[in-house]
Amino acid sequence: MKESLYTIPVNEGFEAGGECPFCNIYHKLETESVDFMLGASYMEDDIRMETNKTGFCSKHYLMMYQKQNRLGVALMADTHLQKVIEDIKSLGEELKNEKKSFFSKNNNKNALSAYLDNVTEDCYICNKINKNFERYIDTFFFMWKKDNDMKEKVKSSNGFCLKHFSKLTDVGKKKLSAAAFAEFIDIILPKEIENLQRLEGELGFFINKFDHRYKDEPWGSAKDALIRALLKIGSVKVEQE
Ligand SMILES: [Zn+2]
Ligand SMILES: [Zn+2]
Repeated sequence: MKESLYTIPVNEGFEAGGECPFCNIYHKLETESVDFMLGASYMEDDIRMETNKTGFCSKHYLMMYQKQNRLGVALMADTHLQKVIEDIKSLGEELKNEKKSFFSKNNNKNALSAYLDNVTEDCYICNKINKNFERYIDTFFFMWKKDNDMKEKVKSSNGFCLKHFSKLTDVGKKKLSAAAFAEFIDIILPKEIENLQRLEGELGFFINKFDHRYKDEPWGSAKDALIRALLKIGSVKVEQE
């Protein structure tokens, strides 16, 4: 493994600033994955076999549709649909023979509905992003342990979104020794709380600006406070209009 292959994107995620370095990494991976999908990759047999099975989640169907490659999306949707029709036919037949006891209180899913739940949530793009994203999280801890450079980057960051903050506490517990984990928490916890409070203050000011008494007050940093708060709380990237 060439180390820089993974360390560079992690460094870039921190250098891009904003409310969460890992959201920067995630959104870059997401854009690249959607572009990859709508490049020529949907014409490659092995990839299409996989997308026929998984399909895509709602978010990524929408992102692909908005990219204007309607033929590409239609081709993938068409062969995915063929596979789904085949599967529904065979699972639907079996459904009639399933014993009633199968539908116990805690398991009210039959084989067909379980299949459909899975196929509507499974997503080739999410799977591709997540595989790479996990590697970047591992790389982050590799860099954290290696020297002080990453610690300094974290200290001068604005903390993380709630989802990635949670992820860091889980993975950190596994990757670091007890003492190193305690040091990690001592750094990221106050950083996170301080930045959530800072953002809550900015959001308060943003709300005040709707009150006519504040209309002449300068915006300061609060102009895009809502956009940044949505990223912090919901990990969602809203483009500024
Ligand atoms: Zn994030
Ligand atoms: Zn997806």
